[in-house]
Amino acid sequence: MRIAMVSEHASPLAASRGLGGVDAGGQNVAVRALALALADAGHEVVVHTRRTDRTSPRRVPIALRAVVDHVDAGPPHELPKDDLVHHMDAFSAELAACWRDEVPDVVHAHFWMSGLAALPAARALGVPVVQTFHALGSVKRRHQGADDTSPPRRVAVESDLGASVDRVLATCRDEVDELVALGVPADRATVVPCGVDVGHFTPGDAVAGDDFRVLTVSRLVPRKGVDTVIAALARLPDDVSLVVAGGPRLPELDSDPEVARLRDLARAAGVADRVRFAGAVGHDALPQLYRSADAVACVPAYEPFGLVPLEAMACGRPVVAARVGGLADTVVDGVTGHHVRPGDPAAVASALSALRADPARARALGRAGRRRTETEYGWDRVAAAAARVYREVAATVPALRTALTTGSPA
Ligand code: UDP
Repeated sequence: MRIAMVSEHASPLAASRGLGGVDAGGQNVAVRALALALADAGHEVVVHTRRTDRTSPRRVPIALRAVVDHVDAGPPHELPKDDLVHHMDAFSAELAACWRDEVPDVVHAHFWMSGLAALPAARALGVPVVQTFHALGSVKRRHQGADDTSPPRRVAVESDLGASVDRVLATCRDEVDELVALGVPADRATVVPCGVDVGHFTPGDAVAGDDFRVLTVSRLVPRKGVDTVIAALARLPDDVSLVVAGGPRLPELDSDPEVARLRDLARAAGVADRVRFAGAVGHDALPQLYRSADAVACVPAYEPFGLVPLEAMACGRPVVAARVGGLADTVVDGVTGHHVRPGDPAAVASALSALRADPARARALGRAGRRRTETEYGWDRVAAAAARVYREVAATVPALRTALTTGSPA
C-alpha cells in the first residue's frame, strides 16, 4: 500500500537526534519505528512532518520505501507544540497539493493536529483516514487543569475527529474508554499498541553494582512522577540509588526548572546524594543504561501509552509501573513487574523493596518482561496490525475514491 503518515510536530528524524526534551518523546520514536516496519513489510511510506529548519531537503529517505517529507507550514524553526495549531491550515493545503500528485491508499494521522490538517486534504480525494491520538486533551485537562497549555479547542477537535475519521487506532484499552466518553462509537476504535525494537533493546550482560539501582527514563515534565520515585527513595535503605535519565543534555541540566524542582525535593527528603541526573540519553546508549538498573520505575500520573516500560522489559528489567493508561496493559502485575497506584511513594517503595529483597524473583520478572515484548510488542507485529486496519478502511471507500480520481460517478 501507499501509506501517508502525518506527524506534524514529531519528526521521525528527531528520534535519532536525541529525545527527552519537553516536546520530543514517544511519538517521534513510534512514528519512525512504525514507518520503518511498514516499509520493511513492502509498503511505500511517506511521513509528512513540519519543516523546522531551512536547510533540510524537502524529502529525506530513512529506508528503502520510507521517506520523511518536510512540509512548509509556519516559520522554519522549532515552535512550542501548542503554538502549531495556527499553522495547520497551511499544513493541510500543502498535504492536499502533495496528495493530488501522488494519491495515497490510506492516511494515518498522528496526534490531534495532524488529524486536523490531514482530514480535509484526504477527504477531498476520497482517501480513508486512520487516526492515532497518542495523547488525549480530555485526559490532559483532567490531570493538569489550569496548567494545561493546549489550545482551548483541542478536546472538541478530538471528539469531532473521532466521529469523522474511518478508524481510530487506540494504543491501549484505557484509551478506548476515554474515546467512548468523548462520543466516539466503540466500533470505530481498534487497539493497536506501540511497540519496541526488541533487536536494539536486549537483556545483554547485566552490569551488577554494589548498590540497588533504580532508573527512570522520561521527558522531565511533572506528570512523569519522578518526584514520586524520589519520595519513595527516602523510605528505602541507603544502598538504594536513583538515576534520572531525560531532560536537557548535561551542559544545560543546571538551568532546567524541573531538574531544580526535583533536586530541591531530593534535598528536602535527605536523598540528594543518592540521586543522579544523567540528562538526555541517546537511544544508542539506552540499552546499556537499562541493563545497569536493578529495577525501572515508571510512575506517571497518567500515560497515554508509555514506551519506556516496554524498553525496560525488552532489556529484561523488572518494572514498577503506575496502573494507568498503556502501563495497565503492558506491565503485568506480579509477572513482569509490579503495579502501584499513581502518586503513591509508599507503594513504590514497597514494590522496590520486594525486588531488592528477592533478586532471583526480580530476575524472573525481567525474563518474563523480555518474553512478553518478544511475543506481543515487536514492531513487525504492530505494523501488521496497523496494516490490517489500513486494508479494512481502504476496502470501504474504493468507489468514492475511483469516482474522485477518475471523474467517473461513484
Ligand atoms: N528517551 C530517550 N532519551 C531520554 C529520555 C527519553 O531516548 O533521555 C526516549 C525513551 O527511550 C522513549 C521515549 O523517549 O523511547 C519516551 O517515550 P514514552 O512513551 O515513554 O513517553 P513520552 O515522551 O511519549 O511521554
